[in-house]
Amino acid sequence: MQDIINNLPKLAKDNHKENKTFFNKLKKKPPKQLDYLMQELHDDEFEKTDCLQCANCCKTTGPLFTDKDVERIAKHFKMKQHLFIEQYLRIDEDNDYVLQSVPCTFLGADNYCSIYDVRPKACREFPHTNRKKFQQISNLTMKNIEICPAAYNIVEAMKKRIKL
Ligand code: SF4
Ligand code: SF4
Repeated sequence: MQDIINNLPKLAKDNHKENKTFFNKLKKKPPKQLDYLMQELHDDEFEKTDCLQCANCCKTTGPLFTDKDVERIAKHFKMKQHLFIEQYLRIDEDNDYVLQSVPCTFLGADNYCSIYDVRPKACREFPHTNRKKFQQISNLTMKNIEICPAAYNIVEAMKKRIKL
């Protein structure tokens, strides 16, 4: 798995032009069944890919934390919200709460998330490949394929399945 992860930035760079053209066309003319197809491709990929062998999202990018995430996770730790923020978070250039550092402080050496049941919404949804109206997050997806082997495979499968 680590070899695949190490090779992803190069693969994503090599495919950048092709992916950009594909997503531009997809945005202009998304197939009617796109939501269903994305759910199918997403489910097929995550039947094969074991995130516990990877955790590259948790190691290289942090999620943003919504107010609800902060409230839920602080409660889990029985901490005051402002103390949780002080200890773990910072405000980024988009004015969002993000982790102070990566790899994520809640990631264990075994790749398990120590706050899995209360983890941020962004972690639950990453890499967003079963999101409705997937064509609207093409820029984000182009970034995600640089770090997420599953997202990379899903985009490759999309290009085979959707003829534009
Ligand atoms: S979501 Fe992607 S980057 Fe994160 S652990 Fe799973 S395969 Fe790896
Ligand atoms: S909170 Fe959990 S799922 Fe989210 S980045 Fe940290 S370790 Fe990964």
